[in-house]
Amino acid sequence: MKISYLSLSEKRCTIQFYGCNFRCKGCFALDKMNTCTEVTPERLSTRIKQFDIKEIMLAGGEPTIYKKDVLDFIKLCDIKTILSTNGFLMDGAFIRGLENAGLNEVHIDLKAYSKKLHEWYTGESNERGLNAIELLNRSNLDFEVITVFIPGIIDNDEIEGIAKFLSGIGDIKYRIIRYVPVGNLSRKPTEGEIKEAASIAKEYLSNVTSSLDYRTHPLKSIHLYLDEGIENE
Ligand code: SF4
Repeated sequence: MKISYLSLSEKRCTIQFYGCNFRCKGCFALDKMNTCTEVTPERLSTRIKQFDIKEIMLAGGEPTIYKKDVLDFIKLCDIKTILSTNGFLMDGAFIRGLENAGLNEVHIDLKAYSKKLHEWYTGESNERGLNAIELLNRSNLDFEVITVFIPGIIDNDEIEGIAKFLSGIGDIKYRIIRYVPVGNLSRKPTEGEIKEAASIAKEYLSNVTSSLDYRTHPLKSIHLYLDEGIENE
């Protein structure tokens, strides 16, 4: 599997996988993906265990493009692990594999509910992501659905459509997070806009949170060099 870089905070190591099957117009990660390191699950697990961390976040890029290696890595690492995914490759067999590997949690990023908007924004249909949410709801995995609020693009209508869809499956955990501007696509949402979107979602679901509920901790990024050890940036 290919890794772009690792980010460390006080308690968490985030592994940024290299490459993605989507091409989101507002992607913060794609322009950071100019370097990568090929690494085996065994080697990565040994490296991660050198840090004093409480949990691991598998993020991207899109970790699920390396399904087998991701499953092997989770089995090798005896540390709480969360998978962050766009859901496109989350079929029944992979979800069973994640259960058996001992994954603790899934964060599934649903970009948009409207089919056309999703295709325009990501280059792919949202059907498989919507289906993955139904499969996760039938699994033993703890999971939450996340949507990035992008003013003028993914705003209240989309949040309401997603919340309504989720409520038809169950009382699913839903989180709305603020868009961080990339290029000229849109602007950063105001706190008022995020609160309003969350209150719309709460009309359908009882467990709705937003990025306003979480404090962010400063991160440092490090690159992983196979032959030279780990270097701070
Ligand atoms: S799914 Fe995530 S990593 Fe992939 S293109 Fe979209 S924002 Fe970027």
